Amino acid sequence: MPSQMSPEEFRAAAHKAVDWMADFLRDVRDYPVLAQVKPGDLIDRLPSSGPEQGEPIERILEDFSNLIVPGVTHWNHPRFFAYFANSASGPGILGEMLAAVLNVNHMVWKTGPSATELEQVTLSWMRQWLGLPDGFFGIIHDTASTGGMHAIMAAREAAAPQIRLHGEHPSLVLYLSEHANFAVDRAALAVGVGRNNLRHIPIDGEFRMRPDALRAAIEKDLAAGRKPFCVVPTLGTTSSSSVDPLPEIGKITREYSLWLHVDAAYAGPAALLDEHRHILDGAELADSITVNPHKWLFTPVDLSILYTRRPEMMRAALSLEETPAYIVTAENQRAVNFSEYSVPLGRRFRALKLWFVLRYYGRDGIVEILRNHIRFAHRFAQKVGEDPRFEVSAPVLFSLVCFRYRGSDDENRSLLERVNATGEAFLSGTVLKGSFVLRLAIGNVGTTEEDVLDTWELIQSLTSV
Ligand code: PLP
Repeated sequence: MPSQMSPEEFRAAAHKAVDWMADFLRDVRDYPVLAQVKPGDLIDRLPSSGPEQGEPIERILEDFSNLIVPGVTHWNHPRFFAYFANSASGPGILGEMLAAVLNVNHMVWKTGPSATELEQVTLSWMRQWLGLPDGFFGIIHDTASTGGMHAIMAAREAAAPQIRLHGEHPSLVLYLSEHANFAVDRAALAVGVGRNNLRHIPIDGEFRMRPDALRAAIEKDLAAGRKPFCVVPTLGTTSSSSVDPLPEIGKITREYSLWLHVDAAYAGPAALLDEHRHILDGAELADSITVNPHKWLFTPVDLSILYTRRPEMMRAALSLEETPAYIVTAENQRAVNFSEYSVPLGRRFRALKLWFVLRYYGRDGIVEILRNHIRFAHRFAQKVGEDPRFEVSAPVLFSLVCFRYRGSDDENRSLLERVNATGEAFLSGTVLKGSFVLRLAIGNVGTTEEDVLDTWELIQSLTSV
C-alpha cells in the first residue's frame, strides 16, 4: 500500500464523502436528533483491537455511515434545541475541509503566514461588527473554556506576577455570578485560584449579577486581607441568557483595579443587531472578552474568539527565561506569533472557516438569520404563554426560551424525556428559582419557524391534560 493515497483514489473517495455530506445536509431532518443508542453500543460493535492490515477506504466509509452515524446526536439538525444550539453551515464546512488538507500548524508566523494573518483580519472584521474599540487584540482558541483560562491567567499576571516566578500565591479572589458557566470556575482552578476563593455573586429577579452584592463581596475580601483580582460577568448566561449589567460592573472593576473578563460566548453575536448593540455597552472597560462563533455564528465547532486590550499580559504570563532554540524566529514587527499568547504551541487554521462564513453570509445575512432566530423564540414563548398549563420562566432576550409545565419537577423532567425520546426534537433543562425548567435554544442556520412551532405542538401532544 502506498504511504500516501494516490490522487485518483483520494479524488474518488472524496467525491463519495462529499456526496454523503450533501445528502446528509439535504436529508438531515430524517435523522433522529438525539442518538437512539445505549451506552457501549458502538464499543460492542467495533473490534477490540486495531487492524493489522490496512483496509480499503470504501469499507471505512461504509462503516462510517452504518456504525458511526447511528450513534451521533445531531447538533447540525434544525430541531436541535438543547444547550446552545449551533450550526456547521455549508461555507463553514468547506473552510474546515480545506484547512484539513493544508494541515497548517501556525504556531509562529513563518509556519503559517496566511493562517496568522487571516486570523488577524477575520477577528478585526468581527471586532468592528461588534462595535469594540480598535485597541482590542484578538486570538482564536478552541473553546470559551480555554479562552477564559487564558484571560484569567493574564489577570493573575497583572495582579500577582510573582506567581509565575516563584509560585508564591497571595489569596487571589475571582468574582462571577451564580449563573456563570462552570467553565469559568474550572478555568480559575486551572490558573491556581482556590475553589474557596471563587465568589458566586447573587443574582436579581431576572438572573443578573447584582452590582451591590459584588461591591459588598469585594469589600469583605479586602477587609479580610485577601486580594480581589478579577470579575467575570456573563452576557447571555447558560441557564437563561440573562445579561449581567456590564456598565455598573465595569465601573466597580475600574474603581478597585480588577481585571474585567466578559463572557459573551453565546450572546456576543447579538451585538451585530442594532436593537441588541447595547449588550456590549461597557465593553470598552473590559480587559478581555470571549465570543464563540461556534455557538451562534454558523461556524463548525471549534472556534472561540478571545479579545484583550492587554495582550502583553497574556504574553507575560507565559514568558519563560528564554525561548527554546527550536522555536526562535527573527521576524519583522508585523509578524505575529500567536503561540506566544497561548498555552498550546500548535494551532489549527481555524480562521479559514470563519472567513468563509463571514464572507458567504456577510454582515446583513448574519443579522437576518439571528433576527429570525430571535423572532422564532418570541413566537414560541407566545405559544407557551397561551397554554394555561405552561409558563415562560425567564425573559426571552435572544434565541432561548425557558419554560415549564405548571406541575412538579418530576413531571417536567419526564416531559423533557418523552419529547427527546421521539427523536423529533432535542431540548435540555435547567433549574431556575429552584424549579426544573425546559430550555429551547435556537441557533441552527437551517431552523425554520415551522420547526419551532411543530416542536411546540409535539410538546403539547406529549403533555398530560
Ligand atoms: N460561557 C457560556 C455563557 C456558555 O454558555 C458556555 C457553554 O455553553 C461556555 C462559556 C463554555 O463554552 P465552550 O464550550 O466553548 O468552552
